[in-house]
Amino acid sequence: MTAAGPVGLLIGGDRVTATSENLHEHIYPATGAPNATVALAGGDEIDQAVDAARQAQRAWMALTVDRRRDALIDLADVVHEHLDELAALNVQDYAVPISYAGTARMLEWFLRHFAGYVDKPHGFSSPVNGSFDLNLIEREPYGVVGVIAPWNGSLAVAASCVAPALAAGNAVVFKPSELAPLAALRFGELCLTAGLPPGLVNIVPAGPVGGAALVRHPGIGKIHFTGGGVTARKVLRAAAENLIPVVTELGGKSANIIFADADLDQAATLSAHQGPLMQSGQSCACASRILVQDAIYDEFVERFLAIVSTARVGDPTDPSVRLGPVISSASLERILTIVDRAVDEGGDLLTGGHRIAEGPLAEGFYVAPTVLGNVDNQSALAQDETFGPVVSLMRFTDVDEAVRIANDTQYGLNAFVHTRDLTRAHTVSRRLEAGSVWVNQFSQVSPQGPYGGFKQSGFGRTGGLEGFQEFTRVKNIRIGIS
Ligand code: NAD
Repeated sequence: MTAAGPVGLLIGGDRVTATSENLHEHIYPATGAPNATVALAGGDEIDQAVDAARQAQRAWMALTVDRRRDALIDLADVVHEHLDELAALNVQDYAVPISYAGTARMLEWFLRHFAGYVDKPHGFSSPVNGSFDLNLIEREPYGVVGVIAPWNGSLAVAASCVAPALAAGNAVVFKPSELAPLAALRFGELCLTAGLPPGLVNIVPAGPVGGAALVRHPGIGKIHFTGGGVTARKVLRAAAENLIPVVTELGGKSANIIFADADLDQAATLSAHQGPLMQSGQSCACASRILVQDAIYDEFVERFLAIVSTARVGDPTDPSVRLGPVISSASLERILTIVDRAVDEGGDLLTGGHRIAEGPLAEGFYVAPTVLGNVDNQSALAQDETFGPVVSLMRFTDVDEAVRIANDTQYGLNAFVHTRDLTRAHTVSRRLEAGSVWVNQFSQVSPQGPYGGFKQSGFGRTGGLEGFQEFTRVKNIRIGIS
């Protein structure tokens, strides 16, 4: 895909290109070639977007609850009609294989789910000491919320944040990464197609400049940030100056514990698709540390490697392809340096560890799926986010050792447990320091399940009642009854 001119921002229902001189050449990672030029928001565009959002939010809240609920259901229907188009744009954004581009469907689910919140009670009344007053505890929208997304999840963040934010009565200024703006911009257009007030959802692709302007803007009531810890600290510092609350959804280094009684074929399959093959390891949800009980270590590794090393690598638009490129040449170099260092430190390179530099993939940023055995949990490979198709294998002997290794990380996003023993599944899950624990399955983010991190993986939740309430603030109204 090659765009004819710069891809514009979406502000107040209009495509805006003229006011921004800040253009970004978007590179398609599968070919290393440009596929679009994108206009980026700076301070002026953020001002315009927040103004448009403020006006639209008033129009939104002037609608009755049934009309707002129906509008979100209409939007879910429109998204449903454009699932294939959104998935294709997701591929163009960061070359995620189409076989993994399921976040458009996730967007539809979240919209349908949170439409159901619009007309449900958002508060309660409570008696008060010493009087017969009417004491109301209500939840109301912040007004305009800023949503900042990482390049690997613009539609997932639209699902988990824009849907509940609108359902709670807010307008949104949504900032996708400059590295992946295309699907988000199309989603913004679909909001208009569905009949939402222009300006209710503004899409402002930007880098650090536009992001910082959004967080510092006095018209923003709350920021929802998804990304890395380094950026999160900058966002939190800026938000402190602005005195506004922030939710942070950050990285992970999730442990995947395979007990000897597990269904080994299932565990090997899930570990491959939740590990190096999952968006080329470029997902916060990846299970990048696989802990295998001694008794089955060799057998598991054999089955796991058979799946990983035969996975189809190639053109992300081909539905049979399981592994695409990584986001950039800089990322590719960084990943290979981490792997080289891990090998120098004694890790056994079982497969991969190199760029795929021959044939039709040579110009893209392809890293072969990479597995290292006997990795030390204190090594950089085991402790830091690699964000590439790389996993570490480690051994453990008993439950206590598995839990100790799993928790021995700064992160706490996901954990995975494979066992047929329900009691063990439950007791181990409770001991794991992670916001979500998945037993005998993939991570399956759903609108009904609150998702988010412990420790350095962030705070706050998306999804479920908790995810809805993140976009509301509490008001107490007391009416004197004499
Ligand atoms: P990043 O931290 O580099 O950027 C995240 C977003 O912040 C981007 O939109 C970026 O443009 C913006 N940004 C950069 N500087 C800013 C500033 N000063 N002020 C405001 N915004 C600014 O992260 P990334 O490389 O885009 O994404 C990868 C990271 O995101 C990984 O750490 C991954 O684990 C994490 N992630 C977490 C989740 C989750 O749900 N927990 C989901 C997806 C990705």
